[in-house]
Amino acid sequence: MEVQAIRGFNDVLPEEIGRWQFVEKTARKVFEGFGFSEIRIPILERTELFSRGIGEATDIVEKEMYTFTDRSGNSLTLRPEATASMARAYLEHQLYNFDSMAKLYCIGPMFRYERPQKGRYRQFYQVDAEVFGVENPMVDAELIAMLIHFLKSVGLERLELQLNTLGDRACRPKYREGLKKYLEGKVSQLCEDCRRRLESNPLRILDCKVETCKQAIADAPKVTDFICSECQNHFDRVKEYLEAAGLSYVLNPRMVRGLDYYTRTAFEVVSYQLGSQNAVAGGGRYDNLFQEIGGKEIPGIGFAIGMERLISLLPEGGEFVKHPDLFVAALGEASFKEAYRIVNQLHLEGIRAELDYEGKSLKSQMRRADKLKSRYTLILGQEELNRGKALLRNMGTKSQEEIPMGDGFLNQLKDKISTID
Ligand code: AMP
Repeated sequence: MEVQAIRGFNDVLPEEIGRWQFVEKTARKVFEGFGFSEIRIPILERTELFSRGIGEATDIVEKEMYTFTDRSGNSLTLRPEATASMARAYLEHQLYNFDSMAKLYCIGPMFRYERPQKGRYRQFYQVDAEVFGVENPMVDAELIAMLIHFLKSVGLERLELQLNTLGDRACRPKYREGLKKYLEGKVSQLCEDCRRRLESNPLRILDCKVETCKQAIADAPKVTDFICSECQNHFDRVKEYLEAAGLSYVLNPRMVRGLDYYTRTAFEVVSYQLGSQNAVAGGGRYDNLFQEIGGKEIPGIGFAIGMERLISLLPEGGEFVKHPDLFVAALGEASFKEAYRIVNQLHLEGIRAELDYEGKSLKSQMRRADKLKSRYTLILGQEELNRGKALLRNMGTKSQEEIPMGDGFLNQLKDKISTID
């Protein structure tokens, strides 16, 4: 039997890669314009980084991590998200000594043992951006503005920015208690998971997708009924700065996000083109994460964009697929040698050129040039070689012209194929 990929782990094929590269390139350009620097972090970390950072009572840590013991007996985990690793790197390399504020981004795969479905995979890619060291709500708004600008830059439309606040260490416990008390009167309506969450993490019940749970929380108290004046003030200012940046948002008091480390600002960008897995990006502020992983008290805020979901929203094929600029069709030993020389020279100059390596007939080479959607074909048969002229065919317009093969041939050829018709 043929060996196949693991369920939930996808190949990104050459025909799709143009869109991935476009998204990555745009992310780098936009983020760097906003003053962010790229950081690359390992895919494997000590398990405790995530269990302490993300929180024991979260879906990710409870049931979604790829955790294993290595040959030396260490418990290691394939990263389920990037924020904790970025925070670890920031502390480990004392990046705060260089500047108290760090703006970092990273692009790469994450791993979560979730039930695979459309838009939900076990290995998926995220583009992450984080700002460490600043508590000012201006940063929250600026980061969100960068996210929206990026999503628009890749061509997404009809997005909705949802916003919430989750309170902080002072006020969230009060909300948690209030919510718990309310839901204790509704236990019979809760699913099995939520009954467990009632003790461990009642906030998570707010985003449960089970219908009876949704009904149970319909009139549940909202976080905004409980938050302290500092958190309220912070939230009000985030909203003011978003408005000043010309961004609209929808308040969603049910949005709690899946990770324990979030405090205050939480946000998601959803697209109604996506179906049930409709969140393209999500993020929030996490002012306690650094302490949880053993560092000092450093505020942070960040977001993660799901690459697969984002890419599924881009228009199909077209401009993202790369085709050869030139196919050199040759016939006979001497022509092939000449074709090889031409193609090699063009490659050195970064021009996408192809030739046939199998000694096929001119007709089948032309068919291949067509299939590869080459813009031009250069025909170099024995006859052309004898006459010292190559035949250049524009595959779109079907027009042909001869190019003399002596001095200046390559320059002429390059000029012709670089003109956009
Ligand atoms: P999170 O890290 O859970 O806040 O997710 C941030 C974004 O990553 C989501 O909005 C999704 O676009 C994407 N994402 C999260 N989990 C998955 C998954 N299992 N498969 C594909 N994309 C995902």
